[in-house]
Formats: sequence, structure tokens, C-alpha cells
Amino acid sequence: MLWRRYLVTAALLLGAGLAQAQPAPSSAENRLIEEIGERSRLMPDLEELCDDIGPRLTGSAQLRAAQQWAVKRLASYGAVNAHLEGYDMGRPWQRGIASARLLNANGMKLDVVQKAWTSGTHGVVHGDVAVLDARTWDEFKTAAAGLKGRIVLLESVPRATPEQRKDLPRYLAETRKMITDAQFAGVLFISTKSNSLQEMWGGPASLFDTNAAIITSEHANALKRLLARGRAPRVAMELGGHFAASPATAYNVVADFPGTDPVGEMVILGAHIDSWDLGTGATDNGAGTVAMMEILRAVHALDLRPKRTLRVVLFSGEEQGLLGSKAYVAAHADELSKIQAVLVQDSGAGRITGFPDMKQEAWYAPLQAALAPAKALGPIDIVYAMAGGSDFEPFVARGIPAFPPGQDPRDYRTHTQHSQADTIDHVVKADLVQATQVLAVLAWGLLNGERLPRAVP
Ligand SMILES: [Zn+2]
Repeated sequence: MLWRRYLVTAALLLGAGLAQAQPAPSSAENRLIEEIGERSRLMPDLEELCDDIGPRLTGSAQLRAAQQWAVKRLASYGAVNAHLEGYDMGRPWQRGIASARLLNANGMKLDVVQKAWTSGTHGVVHGDVAVLDARTWDEFKTAAAGLKGRIVLLESVPRATPEQRKDLPRYLAETRKMITDAQFAGVLFISTKSNSLQEMWGGPASLFDTNAAIITSEHANALKRLLARGRAPRVAMELGGHFAASPATAYNVVADFPGTDPVGEMVILGAHIDSWDLGTGATDNGAGTVAMMEILRAVHALDLRPKRTLRVVLFSGEEQGLLGSKAYVAAHADELSKIQAVLVQDSGAGRITGFPDMKQEAWYAPLQAALAPAKALGPIDIVYAMAGGSDFEPFVARGIPAFPPGQDPRDYRTHTQHSQADTIDHVVKADLVQATQVLAVLAWGLLNGERLPRAVP
């Protein structure tokens, strides 16, 4: 939208009378939209993050490299005091080999990946395959009783009851003992994706923490068909991933663009820089990472002076259970009152289509007002809804206004999220630009607008 500048210049030359008939000088929001639309570093940054550095498993050297890259890049974009903040992540986990093969029937190689945060098999294990379909732990206990030494295909995973959820450590200890006592030779989770796409999950609080792999839905179906015809499939499996001997420190990246307000209030722009390791973490969450870095770059490049401080936080350990954002909230307890709002993008790389008001009446109108200058970027609905599932949760738990954008899902849930297909091929530049522009407009409104009240429980 370069034409605007020429018009404004012409208007100034022609005098004040004519200037009133011309468009008003660009607002900060319009300038941000233009800067990000025409001069963004989104795609080059995403390529450096995903193609140069690659997958970013929490605790890995690659994640450390990515964080060092982000600190340098944020400083070059105008951030002050870009730095790493450490927290104890427990014992890191490293991927090793993963292989499985049918020992009878057609003898095919099975597509498996070791479930993260599990100890390996220490050599090859063998077992007859059995399907286990238990929705509760009582059902699990009964069904597991006869499956000692088997390779168990989990048709469903038992869930904690609300009562069990009240005491998580006790629940984990009891269910892990139940699983150990069952003495399976191995466990196969089934990927929820199709087209041979894999999935990944796991963290310090996950169950089934030994001899567990994830199998593609197609290969799980082959095993089930054999079982249904009484062919008793027998499998050999080896998983070489393992935990490090001792706990380690993980890090969040924190970088400020200072505001003019002496009180020191801030708006946090957050995304997780860690990723699962089957793909290169382009949509989950390289896209969010470069978007937040880009907003800081654009504010600095335009020489804008926000009232509140813009703080970019690139969390880690998100995929293992929001480890980094929980650690951030605990470490910054004394300044949580200064947070005006938190924006966290973590639903892929699609266009932003709306925001939940987190079911807080008092936040609806300010959200709507802050987003008004984003009108030209497409319809953006503010909906009466809660959201969960990413790094905004620990802030929400403290009553802090936190808004995760709703995004066009594209092929995120069905294909890229946590799979080997999470690569830059699935990021559309125009969509990522639009999402960043919308976030920049909202961020600017929150940086300079009225103070938002805390959540009413
Ligand atoms: Zn994510």
C-alpha cells in the first residue's frame, strides 16, 4: 500500500484544506499491515528454522541451536535483553532405532515409531499380537490379565475419571503399576491419521512409559484383519529410544520491545519453538514462532512506540505437557499482575478466522475494538467460547486475559500436526502473512488500549 505515502506527501504539499479530503495519515495498525504484507521475514525465518536447524525436540541440541538463533534474530529485530530462561525439564529423551516386523503371514515390515518419553526394549522383543479395547481402568485390569507376553494393540486408551484427576500423582503411580503388572512384551498405539501418516506424543506425565510404539492405521488394520481370520500374527519389535541418565535444564526464549509506560505493563506474544521430531515443526509451531518474531520486527522497523512492553516468549516443552509455559508462570509470579494480555498462536499455519472471548463478557468489546482495523484482512469472528491445549493455559489459570486465535485448519489436524508431514510444503505464505497481520493489529490494540480486567471465575 505504498500509494498511501504518496497521497499523504502530495496532500501535505498542497495544503491543509486539501489534506482533509485525502485519507488520514496511516494508523499504526495500517502501517503494521503494510510492513508485514510487503517486507516480512516470515518465510526466510521459517526456512532457517525448519530447513537449516530442523526438528526441535525439547532437550535436544537442535532446539538449543534454534533458541540461540532466535535470540540473535530477535536482537537484530530490535528486541532488548533477548535471553534464555532455564527450568528443570526432568530427564531428556532421545530417539533411537524403531523397527517391527511380522514373523508370520506375509512377513511385512511394520510402520512403527517409538512413542516419545518411553524407555526402549533393550534388544528385540517378540510376541503374539492381541487387541485390547478398554475405556476404563477397571476394564483394562480385567482385559490385561490374560495378555502377559503379548504385543498389545491398543484399540482405545483408558481415561482418568474426574475423581482420579483430582490426585494426578497417585493416579499416575497406580495406573503405571497396573501397566507394569500386566507384563506385555510391547504396546502399539494406533495413529489417528490415515495415508500412512504417523503421530507422536509423550512427556514426563504420560502412561505406558516403556516398550511402546505408534503404528500407522493401515498396518494396525492389517494386524486386526489377520486376527479376525484367526491367523495369530506374531511380531518382532525393537525400540532404541531412551532417557538420559540425569535431569537437564530446558529453556524459554524471552525478548522485550520496551513500552513507554513507566508502570511496566506488558503484552506477551507467545508460541512454542519446540516441536515433535518426525517432521520439521513447520506448522506446529514454526509458523507461530516466526509470526511473533515478525511482529516485534515490524514494530521496531516502523519506529512505533507502544505504551506497554511487547514481550515475545518462545516456549519449549509444550509438546511434553506445557512444561515451558508452566515454568514461565511460576518463575514470573511477581510480575503476572503487569500482564495486560497473552496471545498464543498454535493451531497451524492457516489464516486467522476469529478469537474466543474465553467466556468473559468484559473482554468481548475491547477485543472487537482492537480488531476493527483488521477488517480488510477478512472476516474475524469473536465467539463466546473457551479454548485449551497450548501455552496460554497456565496464564488462563491465573485469570490473565489470553487469546488463542482460531485458524483455518487446512490440513493441520488431518495431516501435519505431530506427523512426518509437518514441513514447509504445508505452509501457505499468504495465510501466514494474514495471520501475522491480524495478530499484529490485535497486539497493537492491547499494547495501547484500556487495561483489561481479570477473568471472573
Ligand atoms: Zn503446537
